[in-house]
Amino acid sequence: MPDLPGGRPGTAPSVILLYHHIAPPEDLPRDPERLRSEGWAFVHSPAEFQRQLEFLRRRGYQFVSLGELLGQIEDQGQEHPQSVVVTFDDGWIDNWVHGAPVLEKLGIPATFFVTTGHLRSGQPDSTRLSGGQLRSLADRGFTIGSHTRNHADLARVRVEVAREELQGSRLDLERVLGRPADFLAYPGGSFNARVVDLARQTGYRAACSVLGPDRNTSDSRYWLFRDVLSPGLNTLGDRYRLSPLTRRMFSFRVRDKLRKRLAGVGPGPDEEP
Ligand SMILES: [Zn+2]
Repeated sequence: MPDLPGGRPGTAPSVILLYHHIAPPEDLPRDPERLRSEGWAFVHSPAEFQRQLEFLRRRGYQFVSLGELLGQIEDQGQEHPQSVVVTFDDGWIDNWVHGAPVLEKLGIPATFFVTTGHLRSGQPDSTRLSGGQLRSLADRGFTIGSHTRNHADLARVRVEVAREELQGSRLDLERVLGRPADFLAYPGGSFNARVVDLARQTGYRAACSVLGPDRNTSDSRYWLFRDVLSPGLNTLGDRYRLSPLTRRMFSFRVRDKLRKRLAGVGPGPDEEP
């Protein structure tokens, strides 16, 4: 792993990491349409995933659950320095096959944000986590969050549809897990002020965006900033995300994007699935 900037131990910023697929190269679909629609641009091999987590731990990062991070924010108004949270979007089956075993080996908590359409319909979907797998993950201490029922573009659909997606997926997870989901991740990072109000009204304690990086505080609990790191941790983007200095220098850009997003202007859903 390269020597990334991190500042003195305990001074680097906190990060909420966003992953999608964990799979070895031979498991990648050959169909270009599946590669695109299932977000395979964001794939880490199990070995890369493990190396990345071990690297962060060596650098002094403390892995905490999303609930623990929210507790830090509620108690002190902001995150502890160098906390790191692992999250997954979309609920792909490879998270179960390849992701959870690495996390358990290293004793690292994580949140899986899943769509619930297939759980509700009762139609099995071999590409996604089943109800039984979600129950098993929850029993083993992982957090299960909502990614809506149908990966809805929440800022663009009608308000009744957005409400149904948020409320319905929470109830679907309650049916499977015995308790409703506390946390939400906006599909495609698509949200605005109306969507934030709906997330609050439908009972979510916090929601994750794909905006980042910036520092999470009590102000950002409905658009928690998350970061995508490259598999090899060797890009300029990785340096930017893990450096306290560049995060501070460029946070105005993130704030600008956030203002536009809340106002419902700007480019619409983010590029990340
Ligand atoms: Zn997604």
